[in-house]
Amino acid sequence: MHGMMMNQPLSIIEILRYAAGAHPGGEIVSVRTEGDIHRESYAEAYARSGQLAHALAGLGIGEGDRVATLAWNGYRHFELYYGVSGMGAVCHTINPRLSAEQMLYIIGHAEDKVLFFDVTFTPIIEGLAEHLPPGMTLVAMTDRAHMPDSKLDLMCYEDLIADQPTEYDWPDLDEEAAAALCYTSGTTGNPKGALYTHRSTVLHAMTVAIGLSKSLTEGARVLPVVPLFHVNAWGLPYAAPLTGASLVMPGPKLDGPSLFDLMDSERVTSAWGVPTVWLGLRAEIDKRGKNPDGFAQVVIGGSAAARSMIEGFEKSGVEVCHAWGMTEMSPVGTHGLLSAPMKELSWDDQMALKAKQGRRLYGVELKIVDEAGNRLPHDGKAAGELFVRGNTVISGYFANPEATEKAFDDDGWFGTGDVASIDAQGFLVIQDRTKDLIKSGGEWISSIDIENIVMAHPKVASCAVIAVPHPKWDERPLLVVVPEGDDKPTLEEIHEMLLEHLAKWQLPDDMVFADELPLTATGKVSKLTLRQTYADHTLP
Ligand code: ADP
Repeated sequence: MHGMMMNQPLSIIEILRYAAGAHPGGEIVSVRTEGDIHRESYAEAYARSGQLAHALAGLGIGEGDRVATLAWNGYRHFELYYGVSGMGAVCHTINPRLSAEQMLYIIGHAEDKVLFFDVTFTPIIEGLAEHLPPGMTLVAMTDRAHMPDSKLDLMCYEDLIADQPTEYDWPDLDEEAAAALCYTSGTTGNPKGALYTHRSTVLHAMTVAIGLSKSLTEGARVLPVVPLFHVNAWGLPYAAPLTGASLVMPGPKLDGPSLFDLMDSERVTSAWGVPTVWLGLRAEIDKRGKNPDGFAQVVIGGSAAARSMIEGFEKSGVEVCHAWGMTEMSPVGTHGLLSAPMKELSWDDQMALKAKQGRRLYGVELKIVDEAGNRLPHDGKAAGELFVRGNTVISGYFANPEATEKAFDDDGWFGTGDVASIDAQGFLVIQDRTKDLIKSGGEWISSIDIENIVMAHPKVASCAVIAVPHPKWDERPLLVVVPEGDDKPTLEEIHEMLLEHLAKWQLPDDMVFADELPLTATGKVSKLTLRQTYADHTLP
């Protein structure tokens, strides 16, 4: 027997329409590429999204068409999220840190019709121009006074929307209609597209709002350092207006001092991003001897947060939530907030829990399996490949049957490519990417385990562990260290520290120093580049 309830399709524009009416105090504060700070309410953003939708329709964009963006975190990018998806088109965010070759590949693969870009990216656009699809419309996201000086035929965002009506007759879309597209950064092979639906996006916003409820409440002020150009800034552009939290958009300047000043003056309560950006902010906090005013929570994800970083924030009164996810999961899968009984544990036990990758969000199922695909127990010891299932997980890659075929097991679960364990309380521990694990004499060594410990060494600013080929053991770990100051640590000192937690055979065989670690397009340490750099390194 069917129940007797209405069935309203979930729709992205409904989030903003709701926020415009229900959260009049919510605002989007943006550091603009024009150089100043801009403020608009959710109601203003809704009206401008309507104007944008009219303008897009005028450019011939219809349902299902792909509209690309190449932009920092700012209000115009936010309006594109809503205007494009709201009118039934697909908002395709492009990561400006990709190579020209990768950008051209995904623009061609997505068949983008229009490309909106921040003026700071004009040189990138000019470099790509002659290879872009013929007839592609290029729109600079600025006003007439700040239009870039370029030989290209560019449209101006503010001119485009200026005379359009603010009311748009948003179409009734199927909730499973495509709404947004994001390509994984593709460290191997071509990037693969995750094509989100209205339904998956709204459900993800709700699950993030519930799981990370401390950061997302009416009156909260959230700063996404995580970019809108990749994995939807972890869903914040949707979850913040849904809950009435304001968004503080940092634009291009993501160094420690700039972030500190913005957070301080805008009284940011919660900031979200990958560990590498927090190294800069932490250094600035230490230098100034205080936190930015009002700073209460930090959400760290995208790669493992070292325990020393977690403790640094927690000791200064900033609550850490360590989250895990991936592009194919919209992206957030877990959150690391502690339950009430866990908060009664000793400081040490609490920090140990926070260094894990957290518990699953509602609607995301996790399983770990051995090489034969058999499920492994959630006992905190057994480790195997992590598979996921849920309404916010992709069901295939966009226009890529080969990749789709390899991505799922026989029961339809998506293989994450991570090796993990799950403890009895449901806390996930990511041990490594399958491709980054070090396979030594038939045993696995987790690079993340070693990095987490070494990061706490006072003479270490940051570090990474990679596998290098070994004639006897297949692979052995090599530690790459960026030293803190001139006084470099010795390998003996590092070994001594590691031996408190690891077995002797798990210790790195050698250590090399670097001025900095190479980063991927998403701001994570690029193990691929490191492996190439040290491919011929001879171990002692
Ligand atoms: P890319 O950076 O290649 O676009 P994603 O952003 O989708 O890919 O990254 C997903 C991967 O990042 C995960 O599969 C996992 O390996 C890693 N990752 C994400 N969060 C964490 C975390 N908190 N700890 C360890 N690894 C993480």
